[in-house]
Parts: sequence; structure tokens; C-alpha cells
Amino acid sequence: MSDSLDAFARDKLADLDAAALRRRLVTTARGPGARAEREGRSLVSFSCNDYLGLAHDPRVIAAATEALARYGAGTGASRLVTGNAPPLVALEERLARHKGKEAALVFGSGYLANLGIVPALVGPGDLILIDELGHSCLFAGARLSGAEVQRFPHNGLEALRAALRARRGAARHVLILTERIFSMDGDRAPLAEILALAAEFDAWTLVDDAHGLGVVEPGARAPLEMGTLSKTLGSYGGYLCAARPVIDLLTSRARSLVYTTGLPPASAAAALAALTIVETEPDWAARPLALARRFTERLGLPAAQSPIVPVLVGAAEAALALSAALEARGFLVVAIRPPTVAPGTARLRVAFSAAHDEAQVDALAAALRDLAPDLVAAA
Ligand SMILES: *Cc1c(COP(=O)(O)O)cnc(C)c1O
Repeated sequence: MSDSLDAFARDKLADLDAAALRRRLVTTARGPGARAEREGRSLVSFSCNDYLGLAHDPRVIAAATEALARYGAGTGASRLVTGNAPPLVALEERLARHKGKEAALVFGSGYLANLGIVPALVGPGDLILIDELGHSCLFAGARLSGAEVQRFPHNGLEALRAALRARRGAARHVLILTERIFSMDGDRAPLAEILALAAEFDAWTLVDDAHGLGVVEPGARAPLEMGTLSKTLGSYGGYLCAARPVIDLLTSRARSLVYTTGLPPASAAAALAALTIVETEPDWAARPLALARRFTERLGLPAAQSPIVPVLVGAAEAALALSAALEARGFLVVAIRPPTVAPGTARLRVAFSAAHDEAQVDALAAALRDLAPDLVAAA
């Protein structure tokens, strides 16, 4: 009955078109120096999470190339069978040390990590308290777990305390899910305060560090530090750093580890080379945040807390139009629309990279001032 299937898809697409919420894949060839080629044009990209430009670093590429030649393109099986290639093991040791944890576990992606971690730790009878701006994969892992899921207002410490006070007694275990740096807003969670609350109520805390690793001061460390190899580390994959028994449990119980093929050795080797650069080149690692601050200062926006700066537009159509106008001037700044962000909060999400130079940042600020004076002057 593919007629009804096609009709269903066409109806849904018409709804998305009407709301300016349809999404399309655009072929994009990224190059070094924060450049992206789209439809034959070379743009300066402010939409990549490759905050240190490491995806194109010759040392990272060399490490991946060597692992590719030595271990092959893929691991051929689950890590628990024959897929536990040496670069994955070496990377785990280094990630654990970087985070000050006993052990680490590498997953196929950050999304897969959260799908595996959360259901392995909590289930029916347990309670998950999740920041309302948490990433889609935190919500997906929470739902998959079968635990009760309650969201709390973004960074709302009082609401979190109230929820713990009201609900802690009835739940076997409580897991708090938050992010070090929020992916679409660029702000920080008050982690020290959240961890103090967790200690008071014997709750567990997982922090998603996808956007913090290497580019902001980490501050307090949670017992469960998960993240991705796909952003600052310029590669692909995900990880969890935690105490040894937790990692050992997840090795047996995280379904997105047990029932999926180990990530390619070249991806792990690339991430390991990138982590070395993060640790040994602090001046380079400090650049994205410094450039983000330069940008917010130029536009009178609140000072950036991370390399991510949201420029709130409101309506999805208006965000698309502003993005298109910037693209016409040579800047790639992709519009972020619902359901990635709440209705009425469509925005440009500006992401800074160490590979940008000051003149590019200033040029983007000038273009925004010119194209959307109301958005930036009001701040
Ligand atoms: C990107 C992202 C992920 C997913 O990581 P991938 O490795 O891309 O799957 C998870 N959490 C947050 C907050 C992210 O921004």
C-alpha cells in the first residue's frame, strides 16, 4: 500500500512547508580554516562544532591515516566480540585521565552513548530529572529507560530542589540529566550547585559535555561525564567517563555498546591525536571563547559563556531569511528552528572556531548590525 505511504509523506511535508519547518540536506564540503563550500560558493562557516579546527589538522589526519592503514576501515564486530581495536582502548585511557576519572567507555556516537547509558542505570521505579533544554538524545535515553521523566525549568535550581524534596522518597534512584554548555543557547549549567543538591538527596548526575570539552573551563565534574568525539575533537564517536564499577556495568549492559559495531579505529585515533592537541596547546584552545566574547562585545549582546552565541530571531521564516541574507554575503550561519528549539525562539546559532580570524568575526558582526539592527541594538 505504498500509495497511502506516499500520500502520508506528502501531507506531512506540506505541513512542514507551510510552517517554514521543512529541512533539507545541502551538500557541504568543509575545508581547513573554517571554510565550507556549498553550491559552488566558498563560505566562512559559523555553524560547525569543530571548535578548534581539528578535523583538518594535519596531525589528526596523519593519526587517522596510520590507524586506517594498520587496522582497516571498520572494526568488524561489536567491541565485545572482536571490535575492540587498540586505538579505542588507548583513547579510553586518555579520556579518563583528561576527565580525572577511573575509566572511560567509547561509543559509536554521542547520541548512541546517551541511548545506552541512561537505560542501563535507571528504569521503572526510578525518576529522571532533566533540564528542559537538554539534548534530544538525553530525552530519548530517558524515555527508553522506562523511568519516570520530569523536566525542570532551564537551570532552575529551586525547581530542582523542590522536585527532589517532593519526589525523592518514592523513587528508588534519581538521575539528574543536564549539560555543561547548552547546545543551542551556549550558556552553562550551575554544576557545582546541582552536584551539591544531588549529594544532599543521594541523586546521580550525568552531565553532557558535548560542547564544553577543551574549550571552556570545566568547573565541577559530575560522576557521569559523557560527551562526543565529534565536536572539539573533530572526529566521530561518543564516550562516558566515570568510576570503574560504573564503566564495567555499562560494558555489560549498555545496549548501544553491546549490540552495535565498535567505532572505526581511525575515528578513535583521530580523537586521541586531537585530545593531545587540546591538552598541549591551551592558547589555541582558548581562542573560540575569546572570539565569541569579541563578537558579543561588538554587538552589545550578553558576554559569551562558550563558543556558542545564539542570536534570537523568533519566527522560523525570519530566521531563514536572515540566514539567507548572511549567506549572500559569504557567511554560513544556519538557522535553528523548532522542534530543535522552542516555538517562537528560532535563531541563528553562531559557533566560533579557533580557525576564524578576528577580521572574519568583525565582518560577521558588521553584517548582522547591518541586516538586523533591531536584533542586536536592542541588547
Ligand atoms: C551533538 C550532541 C550530542 C550528540 O553527539 P554526536 O556524537 O553528534 O551523536 C549529544 N549531546 C549534545 C548536547 C550535543 O550537542
